[in-house]
Amino acid sequence: MRAIRRFTVRTVLPEPLAALAELASNLRWSWHRPTLELFASLSPARWEAARRDPVAMLGSFSPEELLTLAEDEQFVARVDEAARDLHAYLTQDRWYQSLDAELAAENREPAPRSIAYFSPEFGITAVLPQYSGGLGILAGDHLKSASDLGVPIVGVGLLYQFGYFEQSLTRDGWQREDYPVLDPDELPISLLREADGSPAEVTVTLAGGRPLVAHVWKAQVGRVPLLLLDSDHEANDEPARAVTDRLYGGTPEHRLHQEILLGVGGVRALRLWSRLTGAPQPEVYHTNEGHAGFLGLERISELTGTGLTFEEALETVRAATVFTTHTPVPAGIDRFARELIMSHFGPEGAGLPGLSVDQVLALGAETYPGGDPAVFNMAVMGLRLAQRANGVSQLHGAVSREMFEGLWPGFDAPEIPITSITNGVHAPTWVDSRMIELAERHIGPQIRTEAKAWEEIAKVPADELWATRRQLRSALVTEARRRMRGSWLKRGASNAELGWIDGILDPDVLTIGFARRVPSYKRLTLMLRDPERLRDLLLHPDRPVQLVIAGKSHPADETGKRLIQQMVRFADEAGVRHRIVFLPNYDIAMAQALYPGCDVWLNNPLRPFEACGTSGMKSALNGGLNLSVLDGWWDEWFDGENGWAIPTADGVEDANYRDDLEAAGLYDLLENEVAPRFYERDTDGLPQRWLSMVRHTFASLGPKVLASRMVADYVRQLYLPAATAGRAITPDRARDLAAFKGRVRLAWPDVRVEHVDSSGLSDSPQVGDAMSVRAVVYLDGLNPSDVEVQVVHGRVSPQDLITDFVVQDLRWAGAADNEPAEGRHVFEGHLKLRRTGPFGYTVRVLPRHEGLAAPAELGLVTNA
Ligand SMILES: *Cc1c(COP(=O)(O)O)cnc(C)c1O
Repeated sequence: MRAIRRFTVRTVLPEPLAALAELASNLRWSWHRPTLELFASLSPARWEAARRDPVAMLGSFSPEELLTLAEDEQFVARVDEAARDLHAYLTQDRWYQSLDAELAAENREPAPRSIAYFSPEFGITAVLPQYSGGLGILAGDHLKSASDLGVPIVGVGLLYQFGYFEQSLTRDGWQREDYPVLDPDELPISLLREADGSPAEVTVTLAGGRPLVAHVWKAQVGRVPLLLLDSDHEANDEPARAVTDRLYGGTPEHRLHQEILLGVGGVRALRLWSRLTGAPQPEVYHTNEGHAGFLGLERISELTGTGLTFEEALETVRAATVFTTHTPVPAGIDRFARELIMSHFGPEGAGLPGLSVDQVLALGAETYPGGDPAVFNMAVMGLRLAQRANGVSQLHGAVSREMFEGLWPGFDAPEIPITSITNGVHAPTWVDSRMIELAERHIGPQIRTEAKAWEEIAKVPADELWATRRQLRSALVTEARRRMRGSWLKRGASNAELGWIDGILDPDVLTIGFARRVPSYKRLTLMLRDPERLRDLLLHPDRPVQLVIAGKSHPADETGKRLIQQMVRFADEAGVRHRIVFLPNYDIAMAQALYPGCDVWLNNPLRPFEACGTSGMKSALNGGLNLSVLDGWWDEWFDGENGWAIPTADGVEDANYRDDLEAAGLYDLLENEVAPRFYERDTDGLPQRWLSMVRHTFASLGPKVLASRMVADYVRQLYLPAATAGRAITPDRARDLAAFKGRVRLAWPDVRVEHVDSSGLSDSPQVGDAMSVRAVVYLDGLNPSDVEVQVVHGRVSPQDLITDFVVQDLRWAGAADNEPAEGRHVFEGHLKLRRTGPFGYTVRVLPRHEGLAAPAELGLVTNA
């Protein structure tokens, strides 16, 4: 029978247990072990049945059972204790508050009072499945660490009715997708309401002036509120209701609607949030990947309503906006047809007041060589709307500077204003409690809060470390068998056929994990390049390895699904199925068992397409060793002893041949380095050399891979300067900066370096010698104070290119009054030769203004 209507009856907790509701609704439980244990202890069976979801589990208790529980004084005391702990966590001063004190002591401006963090997905816990992969998990870890550090962030995202899909397999290994409906009333979120109790709303406008109305839900992530917009609203027609149906679903138009709701609606939700709660307005806006970029348009529109021009509003918005790019893979970058943007922001749609469609289109135009004139690029818009931008590892920063170089013509990649902050992971979420307890016993409680405490890992005795590693491996074996049985039952097998599953995997065999989304650059099947060789590794008589594999393919990606099928068919073979498993439905819950249980974490992307990668960091924090291509974070922190680098065949054009080479490198490492070291035991049965690598991994990577390090980096390197710039840019200064940019752009084509003299060097210059440089520059109508004239010097290549250069400003020395025309100026200065070898220099002119954050910001430069 089908219900004609559904609604959810909320649990009413007796007064002595009232605090349980708060503990269940603040998602801090998802990383706070004592609170998790409190819920689990209520009834371990129901806890598992409710898939470790406190809200669902409380709902499974009858009023009578709850009354009985309320009489259990011991339990009530534990609830009170947990509630007190939560309140202390929510109100005590933390790192950010001490940073503020530090800034005040140095007479510097205070840190921003509020920072908005926009992301299309958030992976916080398995019970709030609003993520598809790394981007979402990272956003979740960002919020959690911000909460731990006391950083006043407000998250902004969408609430997807079906979340991301659940993956299962058909009999022959083809991916199946299921989209269970998520009932918001059963999720750990609450609806924002007006003072009179009616649901609060946000409205945005789509093509043709159609309104799209959304509810706003709030998830509480420790101290951090996360606002989620939901278009499943009675006022919308069916297509409008479906805008937030699923992550990354459907047509380009569907995605555009989602992104308009996220960006434009998200800013409106923040205004609503401040109005309802008195929370301060954000001083900094962080756009996590291009999808959320329309937030900048809405803010420009707001500002033009206060009397600023478009250009002035743009400067104001840029000053306080941070943009993070997350992928160098072209397919990962969001692009729309221009027509689609025109129909939504043009005159036939209501558009946004204060912005013409041409102004919008210009922001996303690919105006560089190779750009597509028919396309609107969200990453490009993100870079134009933010004065500060970053990639997510050092290598990715460098790759991004090259990739977007064309937006700053005239500048070489090193000066492109895109910096990098390497991702990190939230340790309390990802480190298994057994590992953290072991470390705590020997190192002390500071292991939970002080990154550097990992450097003391040597205090943990080898036998105990090894025993814990075995425990974790063994737990994974049990979990993998359970999941495999579930998977085979779904694939149509009966329990009677599945006896073999109790014998798969072995808690004493070297265990290698590989789990990730399945876009082709991640090369799920690289290990299958030479199936015979893989088989030999799995079945080695003395030094076998076993593989645990997982990953979802995007529903529309047939190639990815074929890769999964290829993998599954291999793993299904009777001869190897005890040593290699594919576990369907990779999600946070699986990940939390998978990373700790693996001895080695394998990653073999096509370099340099993995912007950062974070799964290997989670493995490292549990004592796993990384075996990875030198891409993303591993390129930066592999030190020769904390794991292994799979050699890459960069530059080999033939993709097949390159895969062959890299796969062979992988097999060689496994056979000759990894497995021998794992199985080499001393007289006590301990793999001492292996354990010293594990220890070195903890000590060298432990302090670096933490999301608390990452969030502190964002605060110091990007949020503080953005807040300062945002405060400085009053309407008058915005006017001044916009006018400056206009003036400079107009004059620039005529600006030139007319003449450069140098003097003071002998015929055979040596290190330490000084030379004087004098340049005559034509500035058209610009003032000498509008420009910076610089001498750029350094090593020169045989082609006369200056590499590895140093930049030095020249001083204005007056108008060149003996020259015939006006607008000529002399700039001069001295420079010292600091290095031997071929040396070269040139002189260049750049715009200068105190409102600029980087020399290349305007993309204007004139070289001699
Ligand atoms: C960490 C994590 C990811 C991201 O891992 P990458 O190394 O960036 O591919 C994806 N999915 C889940 C469930 C994760 O926990």
